[in-house]
Amino acid sequence: MRQSQLFTKTRREAPADEPSKNAQLLIRAGFVYKEMAGVYAYLPLGLAVVEKIKAIVREEMNAIGGQELIMTALQKKELWEKTDRWDDEKVDVWFKSELKAGGEVGFGWSHEEPIGEMMKNYITSYKDLPIYVYQFQTKLRNELRAKSGVMRGREFVMKDMYSFCLGQKDHDAFYNATIEAYKRVYARLGLGEDTFITFASGGAFTQFSHEFQTICEAGEDAIYINREKGIAINEEVLNDETLASLKVTKEELTLVKTAEVGNIFNFGRQKATDLELTYKAETGEDVAVWMGSYGIGVTRLVGVIVEKFSDEKGMVWPVSVAPFYVHLIGLNNEDNAVKDWADGLYASLKERGISVLYDDRNLRAGEKFADSDLIGIPYRIVASKRGQAEGTFEVVTRATGEVRQLTEEELYADFDASLDT
Ligand code: ATP
Ligand code: MG
Repeated sequence: MRQSQLFTKTRREAPADEPSKNAQLLIRAGFVYKEMAGVYAYLPLGLAVVEKIKAIVREEMNAIGGQELIMTALQKKELWEKTDRWDDEKVDVWFKSELKAGGEVGFGWSHEEPIGEMMKNYITSYKDLPIYVYQFQTKLRNELRAKSGVMRGREFVMKDMYSFCLGQKDHDAFYNATIEAYKRVYARLGLGEDTFITFASGGAFTQFSHEFQTICEAGEDAIYINREKGIAINEEVLNDETLASLKVTKEELTLVKTAEVGNIFNFGRQKATDLELTYKAETGEDVAVWMGSYGIGVTRLVGVIVEKFSDEKGMVWPVSVAPFYVHLIGLNNEDNAVKDWADGLYASLKERGISVLYDDRNLRAGEKFADSDLIGIPYRIVASKRGQAEGTFEVVTRATGEVRQLTEEELYADFDASLDT
């Protein structure tokens, strides 16, 4: 894509009312637009990142048997009353509204109830199970505080998956497969080393659950970790009994700030019992389905990645989620020969299937470099008059600052090698 065609512009200052680093950088670089506190629109560059994350999550969910669908945002009051989750005392994040035709509706903040209800139409016999479904959906939550930028939205994209099994054995196998799939997701996002699975109390949902917590200064949670022993414990469940069972002392643990990037729940047969979602067993009796749910905070992850991968100049996207692989900067635009040379490289990079943002604008070199640092695309290629005279391009790796002068051939060889991995 030619940067001269991109409608977004970078800005030097973040809005005064935006306290979080992730949103400041994303807004300044033109990735998101702030509609109001906790509500952000995703612009072309930001959407490209969201779609990259979704593609990784989608691959991993499909690999364990997930089938993608998309449920509705409007929710029936009566349905959530069945499970006692309509009351604001029970769920404190509801947005609710009234239909002109009469009746109340809620805006979906999670989807266990509607998906469970829908499944009554598709689950009758034990032969219909298991079923695993997931969606990427914009959740609406009336969060009291929204000061963590895109990490806590009142409107945000979640991947939520739901499992419907015959019983505990099948459920446990899928639950464990999901844990492994989640580990692969976070590793592919560049967060593998800093993401820990912790045991948590059930919260609004159920008696037990696991959280995926990523070390992040801007996170709102805290966990105790011991990397050598591979132990991570939620602050809220730390007690003598837990320490003893894990054979670790409090002195051996370090408290770190984290952001919850995923959460998985086991409902047993309770949720389906409340919803009257049953299957006919081989014996002929009606049995409540064993349910689980599995969330990943897609847009929260955008924020976590920005918080963790950025420096004083701007963002530093991991290759796996970067909006483009290469930022090609054409300098000395006024010189037609140099411009043709840069245009030529742009065309051949695209031909090779390498995604490129091409800064073809008539701006000073300093401004272009500052924008490029802020936007944070993994590789910057500079096409300049001097380089052309020498037959080389300057290639700068954003993450390390490494600068190399490469010919076009060398450049492709380098990219082929790194894109293979
Ligand atoms: P938190 O404790 O941070 O409020 P939660 O327990 O309410 O999270 P879940 O209901 O399990 O979260 O949602 C699944 C995932 O969605 C979370 O693990 C998190 O990554 C993400 N998420 C939850 N609330 C928000 C939000 N307000 N903005 C962005 N992402 C969110
Ligand atoms: Mg919450």
